[in-house]
Amino acid sequence: MKNHAGGLEEKLRDCLDHPLFRVVSEVSGEMDVPAFVVGGYVRDCLLGRDHPDLDIDIVVVGRGIEVARAVARRLRPRPRVNVFRNFGTANFRYENIEVDFVGARRESYRRDSRKPIVEDGTLEDDQRRRDFTINAMALALHPKEWGTFLDPFHGLDDLRKHLIRTPLDPRITFSDDPLRMLRAIRFATQLDFRIEPTVFEAIRLNRKRIHIVSMERIITELNKILMSPRPSVGFLLLDRSGLLEEILPEIHALKGVDQRQGKAHKDVFLHTIQVVDNVARKSDNLWLRWAALLHDVAKPATKKFVEGQGWTFHGHDFIGSKMVPRIFRRLKLPLNDKMKYVQKLVALHLRPIALTTNEVTDSAVRRLLFEAGDDIDDLMLLCEADITSKNERKVRQHLENFRKVREKLKEIEEKDAIRNFQPPVTGEDIMETFGIPPSRTIGILKEAIKEAILEGTIRNDRREAYRYMLEKAREMGLEVRKNLMAAEEGASPEDDR
Ligand code: ATP
Ligand code: MG
Repeated sequence: MKNHAGGLEEKLRDCLDHPLFRVVSEVSGEMDVPAFVVGGYVRDCLLGRDHPDLDIDIVVVGRGIEVARAVARRLRPRPRVNVFRNFGTANFRYENIEVDFVGARRESYRRDSRKPIVEDGTLEDDQRRRDFTINAMALALHPKEWGTFLDPFHGLDDLRKHLIRTPLDPRITFSDDPLRMLRAIRFATQLDFRIEPTVFEAIRLNRKRIHIVSMERIITELNKILMSPRPSVGFLLLDRSGLLEEILPEIHALKGVDQRQGKAHKDVFLHTIQVVDNVARKSDNLWLRWAALLHDVAKPATKKFVEGQGWTFHGHDFIGSKMVPRIFRRLKLPLNDKMKYVQKLVALHLRPIALTTNEVTDSAVRRLLFEAGDDIDDLMLLCEADITSKNERKVRQHLENFRKVREKLKEIEEKDAIRNFQPPVTGEDIMETFGIPPSRTIGILKEAIKEAILEGTIRNDRREAYRYMLEKAREMGLEVRKNLMAAEEGASPEDDR
């Protein structure tokens, strides 16, 4: 999509540039059913906003499924059409574009469900059921009215004013479908728009109704907020609307400042969302953003005032990492390696700070490399993002310290290759050498070797590790198999791998 400096007319013409629209137009003319492109595509095109996964919504007044089929028949390569009879909708993928066809409809809602009663309607009925004015603009595709801009709710004005507003009374819009509350905040965050005050008030009023929305839908919006350029915008709106407390109580619990004996700690919520913004500037890894959001999640649980010292949060890194699975499960986030990654970063987020002192030992650096593995770079990003002091001098000092830590990490990694640590002596090696079956002994020996490497007693090298194993085994009273005795003199059967 191009953002031309030119006038509206020209922009709208560009929006219909894609050959797909010509085909829809032909079909619309031949079948003589009105068809329009509506919603997100029109909005993003007018904004000149590139969309990562482009989707195009076509509204047809009547016979949406038939039009979809006829359009697909004319495209090369011909896409496969998915039809949803119950909803009167159809869609297909064409050149990485998701194209949806819906019959124009009128919707009415019941109190206890997001599922409306649906009847056929006019284009304007269809626009009215849409969530926001900026999402309710349409462009006509029928040859007789090709390119006509239909904007009964003044979405274009709101687009220019950077305003989120609803076509209907917002209390009805949000009560009908509470997911729209999160969508409002998500669009405000993605686009850096304001939510109109009466609209915002309606979100506050309806906040408890968010619980009729499935967690999957909620998390889709939360992830989009997190993936925005400045996620803090969204979290502040979530907080002010009362939605934060409903959907992310653990984050809501970070709010507030305690004072005692003239000592205050910082507001952990405000700090946290600033850290999220900081990582957002450096990386588009969603899970790193989740790690930033959760890095201090155990601060409320571990908070203590210590006489003469002030506020402490001992163990919040460890306890926080233990809280992650429960939070992920509730939010229906994946419980796989993504969760483990978040847990790991939360658990380790203080460790690089411990390496900033001058007397840091190589073994401490090796241990961190071992535990962080390939996520060490993300961990360092998180640590740097965690600096939110307003004191410029302090910030510079901390950053300089972390720069030195990065250097040390690099130096030790080049020397000892710990990041992707593979035991230099395997369980099979041990079984073979001593002629013993799988047992606890093997684990003990492997652990001893790993410890010796991390401590720096031996290098991460097969020959040294093998010798060390023989030594340890002797202490444990293990005997080398007769025909392997020779190996004890020299080194291992094959030296390097
Ligand atoms: P994005 O694709 O960036 O998520 P979008 O606005 O295109 O944004 P979609 O979910 O693709 O959002 O929906 C397409 C259109 O359908 C929207 O622009 C809007 O007009 C309408 N819409 C989507 N969800 C809702 C909803 N919950 N209530 C009312 N209208 C909706
Ligand atoms: Mg869309």
